[in-house]
Amino acid sequence: AQPRPSNFIRDIILKDIASGKHDGRVQTRFPPEPNGYLHIGHAKSICLNFGLAAEFNGKCNLRFDDTNPCKEEVEYVDSIIEDVRWMGFQPDGVYYASDYFGQLHAWAIDLIKAGKAYVCDLTAEEVRKYRGTLSEPGTESPYRNRTIEENLDLFERMGKGEFPDGTRTLRSKIDMTSPNLNMRDPVMYRILHADHHRTGGTWCIYPMYDFTHGQSDSIEKISHSICTLEFEDHRPLYDWYIESLGIFPPQQIEFDRLNLTYTLLSKRKLLALVQNKVVSGWDDPRMPTLSGIRRRGYTPEAMRTFCSRIGVSKTNGTIELGLLEHAVREDLNKRAARVMAVLKPIKVIIDNYPEGQVEEMEAVNNPEDESMGTRQVPFSREIYIEQDDFREVPPKGYYRLSPGKEVRLRYAYLITCTSVLKNQAGEVVEVHCSYDPATRGGNTPDGRKVKSTIHWVSAPHAISAEVRMYENLFSKEDPNDVAEGRDWMDNLNPHSLEVVTGGKLEPSLSDAAPGNRYQFERLGYFCADTDSKPGSLVFNRTVGLRDSWAK
Ligand code: ATP
Ligand code: MG
Ligand code: MG
Repeated sequence: AQPRPSNFIRDIILKDIASGKHDGRVQTRFPPEPNGYLHIGHAKSICLNFGLAAEFNGKCNLRFDDTNPCKEEVEYVDSIIEDVRWMGFQPDGVYYASDYFGQLHAWAIDLIKAGKAYVCDLTAEEVRKYRGTLSEPGTESPYRNRTIEENLDLFERMGKGEFPDGTRTLRSKIDMTSPNLNMRDPVMYRILHADHHRTGGTWCIYPMYDFTHGQSDSIEKISHSICTLEFEDHRPLYDWYIESLGIFPPQQIEFDRLNLTYTLLSKRKLLALVQNKVVSGWDDPRMPTLSGIRRRGYTPEAMRTFCSRIGVSKTNGTIELGLLEHAVREDLNKRAARVMAVLKPIKVIIDNYPEGQVEEMEAVNNPEDESMGTRQVPFSREIYIEQDDFREVPPKGYYRLSPGKEVRLRYAYLITCTSVLKNQAGEVVEVHCSYDPATRGGNTPDGRKVKSTIHWVSAPHAISAEVRMYENLFSKEDPNDVAEGRDWMDNLNPHSLEVVTGGKLEPSLSDAAPGNRYQFERLGYFCADTDSKPGSLVFNRTVGLRDSWAK
């Protein structure tokens, strides 16, 4: 197993196990709200929660924090279940906060009876005003001292649907002068005449996130409730509800949110990209969603390696996108089969090669993994090479093909350019060459040196494909960095997608199935897209070959 650097969360768990807290039991959960697709930031939380449970023989639940009926959908629930599985984890239980609505409601009544909650008639706007600010204490609501009987009656009538949305809330009675704004009588329940994706029309009052999350953790006997740093100042409230109700006390631990350069990790903003059709959907390969990067060709192994490398801390920062790409490249280098593909072809005719002759050249599938074996690649008189691999007038230091110059064709022969054929516009349309029959396999019996080796595809055997080349979705390192009067959408990179049609691929790719990953030699890593069908293949560039992180 890979040596794992420790982190402060693991250290807390180790200490708790040593002291026998919760009988040394480790129970975590990953708690998404089903209001969008999971993104790379969620992968960090998934790896942490499931990873720690696995390491300590514990359990990890998947729990949907589905308290907001207006923004949540079954489509999101399904995608989240699929994405967690794709990351390589199996939830020990799949739960829904909405399944606890009955229990939460009973607990709300308990708090009313204990004089710790009241029905308040202030509007949302008024509640905000009364709350005060960090520098000013809040003002008590005029409804704060209603009798328990009156509160019970009003809360019951709220639940029966007697009042319109927004007219009343149930609030906890804590401390309007607390330096922590979350403790200034936070709202527990609001009126919302809306159908919920699971409970339908059963409820017209819904618990707030803060009144739901800790108690859901408690019901599931979560030992360590791991969440991101923005919940640090919610922890006193989390603990207040647990203590006031006298229920099992999970321990909340906060860690830093993942931010990546050139990337936005916010479901709200990703939803805006989908709704405005800036991308083709949540799984557009440019999206930082798990479904997007999966479609693009990223592997769950690379994601887990990345998450383990970035670690966790107590201060928010931003990770270089290059670090993620490095992990992907490293993994694909080990597992992706090498093939030859010419994306922007120009035809080469080898005049002294016998017409109609075809030779099968043996090619290595992966120099990193001998067990992947070899394959036969057909070679013939007419081939395609990349336009970039030929220059009629070579610049200084250009060692690829040009008139009078010799190059090696990968796995085949050495060829020398003898002449070119141009169209009326003066563009080269055919490159004519001669080959040296003594150089089969790329060796030179006389020991002469050839600097350049280029890839190729036999023209009569080539299969066509569309290839989608991706760049960063945003051109700014921090997409949220916007000038006055502009917004983050102005930072979109207009060149994030280039569709290359007319690519020519070696015939072994004809049976590429969606999701299959390859290294196109000299070009990068590519993956057959979900749009790909036999006869009309489509590939995504997962990541290029160049790696500024290696060495
Ligand atoms: P978003 O702002 O994208 O909607 P969220 O925090 O509201 O994110 P949740 O569905 O509540 O999304 O997230 C589920 C879990 O994943 C939470 O524990 C949350 O803290 C964690 N999480 C979300 N985004 C990140 C991130 N960028 N880095 C690390 N953990 C994250
Ligand atoms: Mg959240
Ligand atoms: Mg959110």
